Amino acid sequence: MDSSAGLLPAGGVLVADTLRTAGGDQVACPAAPLLTGELRRRGVTAVTGPLFLGTKGLVAHHKLIDRDGRTEAGLGVATLSSDLAARESAQAALAAWTAVATARTILLASPRSFCAGVDRAIAIVEQALLTHTPPVYVRKQIVHNRHVVEDLTHRGAIFVEELDEVPDGSVVVFSAHGVSPAVRAQAAERNLDVLDGTCPLVTKVHSEARRFAARGDTVVVIGHAGHEEVEGTLGEAPDATVLVESAADVRQLRVADPQRVSYLTQTTLAVDETADVVDALRQRFPALREPPTGDICYATTNRQNSLKAIVSLADLVLVVGSANSSNSVRLVELSRRQGTPAHLIDRAGDIQPGWLHGVTTLGLTAGASAPPGLVDDVVAALSGLGTVTVHEREVTRETIHFGLPWGVRHAADGS
Ligand code: SF4
Repeated sequence: MDSSAGLLPAGGVLVADTLRTAGGDQVACPAAPLLTGELRRRGVTAVTGPLFLGTKGLVAHHKLIDRDGRTEAGLGVATLSSDLAARESAQAALAAWTAVATARTILLASPRSFCAGVDRAIAIVEQALLTHTPPVYVRKQIVHNRHVVEDLTHRGAIFVEELDEVPDGSVVVFSAHGVSPAVRAQAAERNLDVLDGTCPLVTKVHSEARRFAARGDTVVVIGHAGHEEVEGTLGEAPDATVLVESAADVRQLRVADPQRVSYLTQTTLAVDETADVVDALRQRFPALREPPTGDICYATTNRQNSLKAIVSLADLVLVVGSANSSNSVRLVELSRRQGTPAHLIDRAGDIQPGWLHGVTTLGLTAGASAPPGLVDDVVAALSGLGTVTVHEREVTRETIHFGLPWGVRHAADGS
């Protein structure tokens, strides 16, 4: 019986994740997410599943043969034979991917993916879902990654933009990026049961903002306008803080007393670019006072350093992360500044075949909010285009761990 046909969407395409022969052989097709992504970009409904080579409507398939003559991987698609447009798209997508099917080396930057602050914030939501009576609300994305948010939504978390959307007395988790005192006050007024996912390294910046403002300084916050973390930091001392995004902004600054200026930064900035802004501040305000330790966090710094270790060796860099993830976007920018093309991808299916022409060495990393499994998925998908040799370059070992807030531990212990 031809069970592949049952998976075919009307007018759509089935992309094989396994090719099965009449003789019972099975050939894995790890590149299925790549082919599926290309079809979706072409506006075709695509699903993945096993494909029998005798399927009626089979468009084409492509096998990769290893050096010993064994079939090691395959790409396969089937379409409903009645849908000409879908057939043509499937053929074109398959041709696009087979054109870049070759053996590759992947240079894996390390550290990459989740940091201690992201781990902690996600764990707080997970514990809340286990120990609190639903619903559990989360203000803003708990971390800037769509997979994390989709997964927690699937498990019952309700994500909202503002506290107005949360009923009085409910459980609400604040995101890793932190909130301003005004949001905390609103939560208290509404009698909300707050679980605070703010990263301790963001909390450190907030306390510096209060301290610097209390001693009478104008506090220059270096960061990106509109970013949640920056809004929270500015909210700590709104009358004393001023935002700059670049060295050019520094030239426009007007302060009450040039002898009393200090600065802070967003935790997820580019280290090199921020140094330029700080230099501009020092030139304008020689008495500039600095935070006791840098505000760009260890995770951001390590991910940039680990990318720097591989970027010049790679023909292309892929950064796994979401578009609203500041530290992920910084990694793409870093690569491009160093002269290596780079793309930000949320998942393997976002990779476009045109990016891989002539690419035999690929650099791969992920922002601090991107789950490590997504990087594994990219490596697996690329292995469907030919033998992949992975070299991991670890520039430092991260051992930092942030404990859960007392209230969360207490609820988990049931004590
Ligand atoms: Fe904390 Fe840095 Fe991770 Fe942000 S990127 S959650 S500041 S450790």
